[in-house]
Amino acid sequence: MAVFAERLAEVQRRMRASGAGALIVGPGDNLRYLTGWSEDGHERFLALVLPASGEPALVVPVMNAAQSRGNPAGISHVIGWADDEGWQPAVMTLLARYMSAGAALAVNEELQSVHLLGLQQAFPGSPCRTSCQLIGPLRAVKSAEEVALLRRSAAAADAVYRDTLPALGRGVSETEVQERIAALFRAHGAEEHFALVCFGANAALPHHRSGSARLAEGDIVVLDIGCRLAGYWSDITRTVAFVRPPEGAEQDYRLVREAHMAARQAARPGIPCERVDAAARGVIERAGCGPLFLHRTGHGIGISCHEEPYIVRGNDERLAPGMAFSDEPGVYREGQYGVRIESILVVTDDGAEDLNAPAPDELERVGA
Ligand code: ZN
Ligand code: ZN
Repeated sequence: MAVFAERLAEVQRRMRASGAGALIVGPGDNLRYLTGWSEDGHERFLALVLPASGEPALVVPVMNAAQSRGNPAGISHVIGWADDEGWQPAVMTLLARYMSAGAALAVNEELQSVHLLGLQQAFPGSPCRTSCQLIGPLRAVKSAEEVALLRRSAAAADAVYRDTLPALGRGVSETEVQERIAALFRAHGAEEHFALVCFGANAALPHHRSGSARLAEGDIVVLDIGCRLAGYWSDITRTVAFVRPPEGAEQDYRLVREAHMAARQAARPGIPCERVDAAARGVIERAGCGPLFLHRTGHGIGISCHEEPYIVRGNDERLAPGMAFSDEPGVYREGQYGVRIESILVVTDDGAEDLNAPAPDELERVGA
């Protein structure tokens, strides 16, 4: 398909500009992005081998060869290797053609280290580099078709969130709510999903593992949910109070929402990512709560739930139209509760658009 040919050609152009002789892309989202296909090779070597100039090849265990021939990118050069031969002879023969003296070998971060070590041994004179700079910037900027898929996935997450609220009843456990969310995402046709369900003091843990905690009056509830639908991820967080909010939670909610809106207002083409983080963080710091905001403001989203661009201090990469990322400031009061609001933004020609239904202005009460 044309879209994959364009992506492969653009990566090759970047490889030539950066002095990479060949690129190895193991199983995962980068392989899926470049070929429309990926298969888990487990301990076996399975990868796209892309020369800086010339035809791409798929090197796969011979038992995967038939499946890989159906790759949507239409890559017809498929090399199957047998278990009793090992992957090295096939890969080395292929790479020897492309790796001139001093050329770098680029590898994607998903490649198993045992395979990377094998490649380093085979080409001791070639520096190995990560492919982040070759593929990441491409993936960060979404086409109109990709934005439409992100929007569809975002709508599913919004609908699942709304349909989860009635399940928040006295005594329900975090895992019971998780099961409801799973069923709702399946009903929307999601390929994968996640759900962090956090009650009370657990909401103060940004990466709480949902468990047997049961919902009681005065608990804050943080729901961080998302799914992969038609290949593209959604990711939203909403915070509500069960029956009545704990003391201080309403003020914290207003503060986090103000930070969330500040990031959105700061986001536009040409602005460095770190400026968006600073916009959200500044609001929280000025209220004296800086140390309670425990993470970066956001992450890019697409065929991976977390990808470039990262909205974090120190990232001076500039936003461009089509970039999609989460806007998710939070305040976490250990042992008490936490508040986080997360939506997905897409950079437009002159600002940023929210793909999700807006979070309420004030801390919502449920179960009352
Ligand atoms: Zn999230
Ligand atoms: Zn997120």
